[in-house]
Amino acid sequence: MSSFAATASPVHETELHDRRRPPLTYWHRRGGPLPVAVDPLAGDAAADVAIIGGGFTGLSAALHLARDHGLSVRVLEAGVIGWGASGRNGGFCCMGGDGRGWRGVWRRFGEAEARAWFAAQKAAIGMVAELAGRHRLDLQRCGEGELIVAHRPRRREALEREAREVAELFGESWEVLEPGELREQGVHLEENHGALVIPHGFGLHPLRYLRGLARAAVEQGARVHERSPVVAWETDGRRHRLHTATGTVRAARVLVATNGYTPENLVPELAGRVLPVLSCILVTRPLTLSERTAQGWTVPALVSDTRRLLFYMRLLPDHRLLFGARGGISGAPEAFERRVARLRQSFAARFPAWRHVTVDHAWWGFACLSRDRLPHLAPVPERPGAWLALAYHGNGVAMGSWLGAAAAARLAGRGFEGPLPAFLSRPLPRFPLPFLRPLYLAAAYAWYGFRDRWP
Ligand SMILES: Cc1cc2nc3c(=O)[nH]c(=O)nc-3n(C[C@H](O)[C@H](O)[C@H](O)COP(=O)(O)OP(=O)(O)OC[C@H]3O[C@@H](n4cnc5c(N)ncnc54)[C@H](O)[C@@H]3O)c2cc1C
Repeated sequence: MSSFAATASPVHETELHDRRRPPLTYWHRRGGPLPVAVDPLAGDAAADVAIIGGGFTGLSAALHLARDHGLSVRVLEAGVIGWGASGRNGGFCCMGGDGRGWRGVWRRFGEAEARAWFAAQKAAIGMVAELAGRHRLDLQRCGEGELIVAHRPRRREALEREAREVAELFGESWEVLEPGELREQGVHLEENHGALVIPHGFGLHPLRYLRGLARAAVEQGARVHERSPVVAWETDGRRHRLHTATGTVRAARVLVATNGYTPENLVPELAGRVLPVLSCILVTRPLTLSERTAQGWTVPALVSDTRRLLFYMRLLPDHRLLFGARGGISGAPEAFERRVARLRQSFAARFPAWRHVTVDHAWWGFACLSRDRLPHLAPVPERPGAWLALAYHGNGVAMGSWLGAAAAARLAGRGFEGPLPAFLSRPLPRFPLPFLRPLYLAAAYAWYGFRDRWP
């Protein structure tokens, strides 16, 4: 099988899986030192654990396996480190990971599971900060906590309900700001009808964090191979052989950490189980102090709105605005141009004082949904000793890192010390008639777009 076919997904245009195309992101222009000792796999190798995918999940797993469990590890990443979503995201190291919300998780799985899930999300953020301190990761931390801004007056009621739920269910007091209070805090955009203040999370430079993770994993003894797409996976009993174009890794345990870039054609057990969704980001030129003052947005807050198809935004340390949204249903190059133009209009509508401001960077990439709208850390069906950790619903900076650490414990056959709800270990369900996923996505976007326009 060619490397291209093995790493592609039929859900979107295959060009989006072409590892020869470098991600042209703001982060890559300012990504700090490249990781060293991450050469492509050469020849035959053996390891206790082989990991497919070198994003937050795969590299966190590798670091924890080598450091805490004393196991030998080989990470195989198809592109360069940072080619996938972990090098392309908005840098919100915040709560999240599922597509159901607190109440949905509570109703479906009960109180203890909902509490464990809430605790896991907070612990995930704490772990990123702890890893940074311990391994000297250059996070470029900027902005504390998260703000969810009501885009319609009625959505403010939903935010107030959420604050009450969090108090009732988890004993935390989350404030809801009046529109004027939000402005006083230095955050002003059109469609401001108040905001929920989530007192957890922070902003970071995702690629520097990821490259730091790669360095730390290598320092702890893990072997990391970039430009090493796994093109075939043989399983014989409990023995696995992962083949790249230039070598083979033999291992008794495997972790699939491929999230929105999960290959459909590598093995039948992975086919049809995830729904990759595009998210698109613009980054403006640096805004001057007088421009920031004119708009009334002067602080590096991490902000998203109450839409199902949400907009997210933050001021970066060099005073550029990062502005992101869902990337639509087509991955064609002309669709990218259209998406960027639409995002530009949405940006101008929210920030009238910055209408004239040029955009220096625009890119997109895949986040990942699952059929049951939950993340999964579960065995791969029919592949004894193999696990998968994925489907963070657009919130994988902290949660991918956390499930990577939890996967390391599972692969080592040990208990995981942090909070981890049992529902995460449920099998990853396949989508019904998986070839219809583009249609499901189109229908969901049409419905959510309609709902988002409701008052
Ligand atoms: C534009 C955008 C903005 C986002 N913003 C945020 C945000 O602000 N905050 C947040 O928490 N989350 C955000 N996300 C989501 C977040 O980036 C992801 O959830 C997270 O990076 C997932 O990490 P991962 O390691 O699981 O997967 P990825 O980082 O996607 O890594 C998977 C890797 O697997 C590799 N791979 C696939 N097939 C093979 C193969 N056959 N052989 C070898 N390697 C293979 C891919 O090349 C890829 O690098 C955003 C996502 C996007 C696209």
